[in-house]
Formats: sequence, structure tokens, C-alpha cells
Amino acid sequence: MIALSRVLASDWVVFTDLDGTLLDHHDYQAAPALPMLTRLQADGIAVVPATSKTRAELELLLARLPLSGAAIVENGASVHLPADWPGHELFESAIDYATVLTVLEGLKPRFRFRGFHDLGVEGIARETGLSLAQATLAARRQASEPVLWQDTDSALAEFSAALVPAGLRVIRGGRFVHVLGAQADKAHSVERMLAGLHRRGWRGRSLALGDAPNDHAMLSRADVAVVVRNPHSPHMPDLGNKRIYQTQETGPAGWAEAIGHLIYHDTGETDE
Ligand SMILES: [Mg+2]
Repeated sequence: MIALSRVLASDWVVFTDLDGTLLDHHDYQAAPALPMLTRLQADGIAVVPATSKTRAELELLLARLPLSGAAIVENGASVHLPADWPGHELFESAIDYATVLTVLEGLKPRFRFRGFHDLGVEGIARETGLSLAQATLAARRQASEPVLWQDTDSALAEFSAALVPAGLRVIRGGRFVHVLGAQADKAHSVERMLAGLHRRGWRGRSLALGDAPNDHAMLSRADVAVVVRNPHSPHMPDLGNKRIYQTQETGPAGWAEAIGHLIYHDTGETDE
């Protein structure tokens, strides 16, 4: 955790995707980025993870890495701010999990699907490959539901349209689609978090790191975007003419490379 006064005095706030970005695509370790994370914390620069994981899944990671304590979870459906951070009121209207489940229940007669709630911990483990312990944490949801889609593509379009009046929408993953609030995504959460900090007088810049097209909106909202190289991921769509850094290294090594270059100018190049 970093005291808010230090965050407000710092030049940067960093938002980061986890899988394939801060965490290695294969072993989910952050080791190559650890010295840089420690350096950022010493300088009062907050690092805010933005992930599809639940808060419960993230707890283990937050406990072993020097991060800010702020986190964007469940694809932006839920946001956690340290008690002294500004902007709590900006997230109060978020749709809760019970509401999402109620809406889904009402759609079951029309569409074939099974959500995490229907699958239960053992079903989640079976369908995702997570261990039972991991599946238990993935099942502790606050504001969004992953749904195993068992109907046609055209039915999915109808399903998506049927969610709109309830203020919900879908994000397509692989086998799962994620059902969450229409206003809930990583990019909106980043914007609101920055708005809260700006109101308290923060005058720094934002930097966002990601490795895949699902990070595109978040990256496009930050002052500086970092695309961490990931040979397993589709090409990142054009981010426009803002400042972009493409890493040479993959995963956490690429993460550290980008932070070193952009915040600490470790390569000796000046690009300001
Ligand atoms: Mg990723």
C-alpha cells in the first residue's frame, strides 16, 4: 500500500493487465517485474491491476506483490479503492451480482447457457481447468457472471440485445461470455479512478499496459500506452496517434522493460 498523499504527489499512475502482461502467460509469475514494482512503490507510483479475475482471486497476488491496493476486477464490473482514495462515490451505482443472476434466470427459458453460479465450484473447475481451490475463488463474484454459451451465435446476438433493457451487456471471451453492467469495463473504471485523483489535485500522467485486444479500450484512455509483446495474442488494433511503446520482451520482462524506458529512461534515450 502507498499513502494517498504520496500517490497524489507522484508523476505517474500505472494501470496494468495481469495475464500475459504483469504475469507470465505460462506460469503466472511476476518475478522479472518485481524489482521494478518495488522501485515504483518506493517512488509513490501506484500500480493498479485491471483484470477479469475476481477480488478473491486477486487477494493472493495483492498479498505477495507491492501494488497500490486499488484494483479493477471482473473486467471492470467491480472496483476496489483503498479507504483513503478519492472517487468511491463514482462507483456506487455498479450493478451487483444478485441483480445479474436475477436477469439471467429470467432469460433461461429462451436461451441455452450455464453460468458459474449454475456450474458450481466443481463444474467451474471442470469447464475451465482451474483447481478446486482456484475455482472456489473464481466463484466468489461481486458484479459479473461468466456464462458457458451452449446456444447458437445468432441466439447470442438476441441474448445480448435482451440484456440491454436491464442495463447489462456481454463481453465475448472464448467459450465463455461475460455478463456485466453496460457501463462497466476496464476503460471506464480507469477514467473514473483518474477523475477521482484529479479532483484531489493529482497532476501526473497515466500509463497503461496490456498484451491483447481486450486491453485496447483501457490502453486508449491512458496518456501513454504500452503493448507488451505476446506471440500467443492477436495483433493489437491501432491505438491512434497517442504515445505508444511496444516491448521487445514478453510478459513481466516486457513490463519491466517498458516501465524502465518510459518512467525511468533506463535506456538512456530521451523521448520526452
Ligand atoms: Mg492479458
